[in-house]
Amino acid sequence: MTQTIPLAEAFRYCPRCGAAGDGQGQNPFHCTACDFVFHFGPVSAVGAIIADAEGRVLLIRRAKPPGQDQYGLPGGFIDPQETAEAALRREVHEEVGLDLTGYEMLVTYPNTYDYRGVVLPVLDVFFVCTVDLRQPITAAAAEVTSWEWCECNENVLSQMAFESNRRALRTYLRTVGRCSS
Ligand SMILES: [Zn+2]
Repeated sequence: MTQTIPLAEAFRYCPRCGAAGDGQGQNPFHCTACDFVFHFGPVSAVGAIIADAEGRVLLIRRAKPPGQDQYGLPGGFIDPQETAEAALRREVHEEVGLDLTGYEMLVTYPNTYDYRGVVLPVLDVFFVCTVDLRQPITAAAAEVTSWEWCECNENVLSQMAFESNRRALRTYLRTVGRCSS
């Protein structure tokens, strides 16, 4: 894979009738042969901000691209017909083995998911979450190498896989009065 392209440019042929696309790269994709229309809207994902008693935030190390070996918030893509809240509970449980005791939506930020040469537009929905801190934490999912309680200093923020996660943590730090530049 030599080049990274936006998702819209990857649609070289109509996925319904197979005709060569003449509107390649446009949003929406429109096939003039069969009138098929496809909107390249963002997919949705959730991110969980979970703090311990000292105010450190639970971060995971990403096992796979994009952002391999960098920090991320526990979270992931929302499934079709799933609520953001259900996705939040499911992803946090899958990735770090924790069951949420509460959550509140904080902020949303657009993101891009650069995977195998195609850039998917994403809308990330961030929640501030509470857990029973006596629960064991496990990095169970295949996409998670390890987990850490991190002080959200500039060094840690610079190692976040996604700018949206970095922005959400800065918003969170301002919200709790621990401003990070
Ligand atoms: Zn077509």
